[in-house]
Amino acid sequence: MPSAQTVLGPVDVADLGRVLHHEHLLSLTPGGWCCSCAAAPTDVGRAQVELAVSSLVRLRDFGVRTVVDLSPYGVVGRDAHGANIKLLADISLRTDIHVISGTATYLEAFSPSWALQADIDEMTKRFTADLAQGIDGTSIRAGILGEQATSLGAITPFEERCLRASARAHRATGAALITHTTHGTMALEQIAILEEEGVSLDRVVIGHMDTHPELGYVRSVLDCGVNVAFDTIGKQFWDFRVAPLPDEMPEGEFTKDAYYRADVTRADRIAELVALGFTDRILLAQDMTGSEVYLNPDTHGQLGYAYLFTDFVQMLRQRGVNDRDLDVMLVDNPARLLSLP
Ligand SMILES: [Zn+2]
Repeated sequence: MPSAQTVLGPVDVADLGRVLHHEHLLSLTPGGWCCSCAAAPTDVGRAQVELAVSSLVRLRDFGVRTVVDLSPYGVVGRDAHGANIKLLADISLRTDIHVISGTATYLEAFSPSWALQADIDEMTKRFTADLAQGIDGTSIRAGILGEQATSLGAITPFEERCLRASARAHRATGAALITHTTHGTMALEQIAILEEEGVSLDRVVIGHMDTHPELGYVRSVLDCGVNVAFDTIGKQFWDFRVAPLPDEMPEGEFTKDAYYRADVTRADRIAELVALGFTDRILLAQDMTGSEVYLNPDTHGQLGYAYLFTDFVQMLRQRGVNDRDLDVMLVDNPARLLSLP
């Protein structure tokens, strides 16, 4: 039986259960508002662990036994060098939920300086070592590559270099590779780069395809032979920035970007793709972080991680998606991708 690499060591893939394949467990605490956190407010790491533990506690009731943390270096809870990977091990021990870590870099504008300065060989070595030896000098190994990011309608030279390095680490280790597209853009360009690098496209998941405005584009991505992720379920409203806020933020009015994607549209699209026979190449997750809880009080804000398994699954069932289809998307597909040679 093949195994998957969790933060506590290898497990049989048959034990993974339902899997949330794209989450960020150390980014559920946007600030001192978190009154449910027992830890001292100065200990940010402990506060993040407490919030993650309390957020995950109900997941076992829904058959979820595994959560994949795809936080890239320096963003959504992962520190610049990855040393706080140890906190994911604490969360797994406390919740009895398998936690699998990714390894990746995010958009250029948010990436740490060591990554910006690394050449392609250094980056390949880093990702490969994360999978084969451990992250930042720990013995805690990544179990998958990702979320490896490209920008909105563009791939910067840094982002291309890191995507190629991720592809090379995939070839060296056999680990699957999950990307971040910004609102579904550049998916075909990502695939072209990965193909050039000799990646097995059935080991690739193109991320955030539920946020692309056109289903026809999602079909054209699937036609390449990759998997696609509907991984922002419940995130109907969000604010996004293509670059970090400046250190010295000017006071007064400023403009920000925002996006809306209705969950009924996600459900319609998944049902259509399931009816077309693509069930074995769709993955589901919520990509939940702290700020979405404020912006989506009716989904994440009310139900957290449970939302997918209560309300959203009902929407899918109403559209003809059956229990077997759900098992394929939530159990079989992630198990196949998380299997390591
Ligand atoms: Zn992402």
